[in-house]
Amino acid sequence: MQINLARNDDGAPEIFRSIQGEGPMAGRERTFIRLSGCNLHCRWCDTAYTWNWEGSPFAHESGKKYRPAEEMDKLSVAEAAARVLALPAEGVVITGGEPMLQRAALLDLIQALRVGAPGVRIEMETNGSIAPSGALAAMVDLFVVSPKLAHAGNDAALALNSEALAAFAALDQAHFKFVCQTPGDAAAAAAIAAPHNIAPARLSLMPEGVSSAAIRARLPALAEAARAYGFSVSDRLHIHQFGQKRGI
Ligand code: SF4
Repeated sequence: MQINLARNDDGAPEIFRSIQGEGPMAGRERTFIRLSGCNLHCRWCDTAYTWNWEGSPFAHESGKKYRPAEEMDKLSVAEAAARVLALPAEGVVITGGEPMLQRAALLDLIQALRVGAPGVRIEMETNGSIAPSGALAAMVDLFVVSPKLAHAGNDAALALNSEALAAFAALDQAHFKFVCQTPGDAAAAAAIAAPHNIAPARLSLMPEGVSSAAIRARLPALAEAARAYGFSVSDRLHIHQFGQKRGI
């Protein structure tokens, strides 16, 4: 089976070891594998090279379009697993793009990773609009689910799929992380969490921004808003450390 990966600037598949900069595992060293393709089209997406193809109608604030032939690399699952295992860390983060578009390949990939590195922790970042299969859910130690609020510019029916959100909410190992532009986004996050009985301790708010300056400008007010709701707040440590670029 094959898996579609994003590419680094040098054309190599985007598999790299770094620190997790966001969410409940912030600060932990992880090996990342970035998949190509997304079913959403967020106007501020920081990985638009995984989906914003030439000829598509989607608007992105950068105005840039990309070519799949240049940005996507198909690897066999075995080759992808070997590349991940060559960069050992206590955990692997599968991210995108939207990993749930490749659920069948991910089952094979995680099995291969567990054979090569028994006990390795598997974490997955998803936009929460596509439910995991039961088999996949059983193999993932942590889902970081990031439902997209209105400012991302998606069709709400697609981005906030109630059935998919309910499926993630039912998983003890799912944490919900909302990308926020204003403190008022805390109320929008709470309104999404409430019908799914997502406890505040399972939810964090993170400032949208791809520069340290943008993140720092939003973080203090967002932290106050998070505290008012009992949510946690997430920084974006990798942006402070490396800036906005691929493979970090
Ligand atoms: S869901 Fe994630 S990868 Fe997809 S467009 Fe939005 S921010 Fe980008």
